[in-house]
Amino acid sequence: MATIFTRIAKGEIPSYKCAENDEFYAFLDINPLVRGHVLVIPRNVEDDYIFNLDEDTYSRLWAFARKVALAVKAAVPCKRVGVCVLGMEVPHTHIHLVPLQKEGDLNFRNPRVELTPEEFRDIADSILKEYEKL
Ligand code: AMP
Repeated sequence: MATIFTRIAKGEIPSYKCAENDEFYAFLDINPLVRGHVLVIPRNVEDDYIFNLDEDTYSRLWAFARKVALAVKAAVPCKRVGVCVLGMEVPHTHIHLVPLQKEGDLNFRNPRVELTPEEFRDIADSILKEYEKL
């Protein structure tokens, strides 16, 4: 059965798109640590462990994530964009990109930020706009 993230990448489940190409998709985490918390996924690889990816796919995934991180940094006020790979919840390889003001912002025990659908849409649109400039 397809994972929830495969269904998101196919558009079967709604998401706030931040960037995409044929192979990868980036969207806002629905339960964000901070504004602009993005998830980056391969569209068609459902293995839930990033280090199981073949070397070429792994490299292309990180190259895509780098571009998305540049777009996040340009769109969301932050000191830098932090990176985390967990995969404890959703069994589909994904990279968390989290805009940081301080080290403690990348703590998954922190309370999550609540955003309205309009706020999610605005943030995603700003990131997508920056991504398309790259
Ligand atoms: P983990 O698998 O531990 O890396 O965490 C999965 C992340 O996916 C969590 O931060 C969730 O908030 C996020 N998430 C789960 N379902 C969705 C969804 N439908 N749309 C966006 N983000 C999601």
